[in-house]
Amino acid sequence: MAIYNPKSLKAEEFINHEEILDTIRYAEENKNNVELIDAILEKARPKKTADGIHCEGLTHREASVLLACEIPEKVQAMYDLAREIKLAFYGNRIVMFAPLYLSNYCVNGCVYCPYHYKNKHIARKKLTQEEVRKEVIALQDMGHKRLAIEAGEDPVNNPIEYILECINTIYSVHHKNGDIRRVNVNIAATTVENYRKLKDAGIGTYILFQETYHKKSYEELHPTGPKHNYDYHTEAMDRAMEGGIDDVGLGVLFGLEMYKYEFAGLLMHAEHLEAVHGVGPHTISVPRLKRADDIDPDTFDNGLADDLFEKIIACIRISVPYTGMIISTRESQEVRGRALEIGISQISGASRTSVGGYTEEERPHDSEQFDVSDQRTLDEVVNWMMQLGYIPSFCTACYREGRTGDRFMALCKNGQIQNCCHPNALMTLTEYLVDYASEETKEIGFDLVEKELNNIPKEKVKAIAAKNIEDIKASNRRDFRF
Ligand code: SAM
Repeated sequence: MAIYNPKSLKAEEFINHEEILDTIRYAEENKNNVELIDAILEKARPKKTADGIHCEGLTHREASVLLACEIPEKVQAMYDLAREIKLAFYGNRIVMFAPLYLSNYCVNGCVYCPYHYKNKHIARKKLTQEEVRKEVIALQDMGHKRLAIEAGEDPVNNPIEYILECINTIYSVHHKNGDIRRVNVNIAATTVENYRKLKDAGIGTYILFQETYHKKSYEELHPTGPKHNYDYHTEAMDRAMEGGIDDVGLGVLFGLEMYKYEFAGLLMHAEHLEAVHGVGPHTISVPRLKRADDIDPDTFDNGLADDLFEKIIACIRISVPYTGMIISTRESQEVRGRALEIGISQISGASRTSVGGYTEEERPHDSEQFDVSDQRTLDEVVNWMMQLGYIPSFCTACYREGRTGDRFMALCKNGQIQNCCHPNALMTLTEYLVDYASEETKEIGFDLVEKELNNIPKEKVKAIAAKNIEDIKASNRRDFRF
C-alpha cells in the first residue's frame, strides 16, 4: 500500500487515497469540535508582521474540518475570514480574461465532455492561423488582454507544433491599441520537453484540471485515450515545473465525485507543489459540470448546490491565501457575484466556448464545449463589477516583468501588491475605458479610478500612477507599469 508523502513525485503518494479517507473521517469526527474550529480559524487569520500582512494557510486536514462544519455561526465566520483574506491580498482588483478554443478534435473518451471522440454529431473544428488572427482581433476589440487557450487532445490534429504556432500568432496580432499580453494554456498533460517548448513560446500559466482526484472514478470517467492514465495526468504539474513553467493552475470539475474527496485532494496537490518546488499553484479554478451536447449533468450523482459550492470557494480562499482563484462563465451572474466576495480573483467575460465563436454574430452552439450561464458582454461585466466596487484589471505586468512563480508569491506575501498591482490595475482599466467601454461604463469607471488612486499607500507611486492615467486619457501612452 502506498504511503502518504507530499514530497514524493508519485501520484499515489502525494495524492494518497488512504490519507484522503482518513482526512474525511477526521473532519467528520471534528465537525462540531468548536474549540478546534476556533483554533483553525485563528491560525488562518491574517497577521501583521514587520513587512506587511502574513497568512499561514491551512493543511488539507484543517481545511477539511472547516468544510465539514455546519454550525451556522462558524460557517459565517468562515465567510467573513475568506472576505478578510481576499481583501488583504487582492484588494478589490479582479483580473479579466477570456478562453479561446483552438480545436475540439479529441481522441479521449471523457464521459462528461462533448468533445469525446465517440460524439459523432458535434461539429469538429480547428482554427487555421488566419482564423486565430480573426478571433484574436475580435477579442482585442472587446478589450481583452489575457487569454486562456483551450484544445482537445489529438496528437494528429492538434500536435504541440500547432499549439505553439497558435501562441505565436496570438502574440503577433496588434489591432488598433489591442494586444494579447498573456496567453495561458489549458491543454492535455504532456511531456517535459513539450512544457519546455510552451515555456519558450512565452506562455503565462499552464492550467490543467485534475477533473477528479479519485483514481478509480477517474479511470471510469476517462475510459479510453491517453487521458485514461491517472498517474500521468496527476504528475503533469511536476513535469510542467521541470520544463521551466513557473505558474501552474489546478482545478477539479465539481460534480464528478464527492466534493469532500476533491477538496482534500486539491489541497494536497497544492501542498505537494509547495513541498517539492517551493511554490504552490498560481491559480485554482472551480469549474462545475454543465449541460452540453451529448452530456446531461443530471446523470452524474455529485452535483453541488450553490451554497455548498460557495462554502468550498471560501474554504479554498482561507486555506491557500496566496493562490489566485478563477471562476468562469459556466456560473451565473448571481453565483459569480457572491463568489467574488469570498475568494475569486480572476473572472472570464463574454466567453464563447465554441471553436471560432468570437467571429460569429450570434453565440454559436455547434462546436461548443458547454453552455455558458453568464452571457453578458465584456462591457456589461466590467460595468457590473465596478458598480459592485471592484476594479476590473487587464494587467499582465507581473508576467512581463518576470514576477512569476516564487517571485510573484514573495510580492504577494510581503504585501507590496498594493503599491504594484493596484496602480497597474487602475492604469490598465483606464486603457480599457478609453479604448473600448460604452459611455455609461466610462463614466462609472473614470470616477472609480479617481477614487481608487487614493488607496495607493506610497505617495510617490500614487503621483506616478495619476500622471500616467492622465496621459492615457490624453492618448499619450507609454505602456508604463510598476
Ligand atoms: N484537453 C485538455 C485536457 O484534457 O485537460 C483541455 C481540457 S478542456 C478544453 C477544459 C476543461 O473543460 C476540462 O478540463 C474539463 O474540466 C472542462 N469540461 C469538460 N466538459 C465539461 C462540461 N460538460 N461542463 C463543464 N466543464 C467541462
